[in-house]
Amino acid sequence: ADRVLELHARVHVQLRNKRLHDTLQRVRIERDLLRRDAQIDPLTGLLNRRSLETSVNERCRTRERFGVLFMDLDHFKNVNDRFGHDIGDRVLAAVASVLRAGLRPGDLIARYGGEEFLALISGAGPESARLVAERLRRTVEEMPAIARGPAHLTLSIGATVFDPQRFEEPPLEILRRADMALYAAKHAGRNRVVLLQPGA
Ligand code: GH3
Ligand code: MG
Ligand code: MG
Repeated sequence: ADRVLELHARVHVQLRNKRLHDTLQRVRIERDLLRRDAQIDPLTGLLNRRSLETSVNERCRTRERFGVLFMDLDHFKNVNDRFGHDIGDRVLAAVASVLRAGLRPGDLIARYGGEEFLALISGAGPESARLVAERLRRTVEEMPAIARGPAHLTLSIGATVFDPQRFEEPPLEILRRADMALYAAKHAGRNRVVLLQPGA
């Protein structure tokens, strides 16, 4: 009878361990999903603004140079007005995937706001930041039309770089400069790249 009791006890403990283990596993999966939701924009699958800003801060701390591209679709309000919000959303998702496909694995791309995207180009100085920006601009210009959507779509890009060897500057300053460059690109007629150097 003792042996039977002992066996019971063992099985009991093992079952309880397994249940605890399973629960822990579920909690971990849940936690990872929540973390992911907090970092990812659901419409495009790109990083969201908050997690991109965290990355900008981190990259500035490591003092490696990188390019910043602030991108904004031209006259996007017209797309919604003419084709509706659903098509607008599909266009945004399509643009997001061609932008992502146009970058290298070490680069980062986020949906910064409604129809605004922001990319960090690892190791880029001014020349390669401009080259990558120009390539992305052209990729969007040459995108095949979305079903029942607009035939033409263009993108304006403000580009700049973080170069810790030449200028020590806070992350917000870099984003502000990229935004200024974007503003200049819009005012120069859209569908173009404007690059602003640090200190400019
Ligand atoms: P500009 O060339 O000056 O950038 O013109 P724009 O019309 O793109 O600029 P504006 O900032 O006036 O309008 C942005 C539009 O983007 C307004 C809004 O309808 C649209 N938009 C923002 N977020 C979303 C979204 O999540 N889905 C859809 N479908 N449209 C969005
Ligand atoms: Mg905008
Ligand atoms: Mg726009």
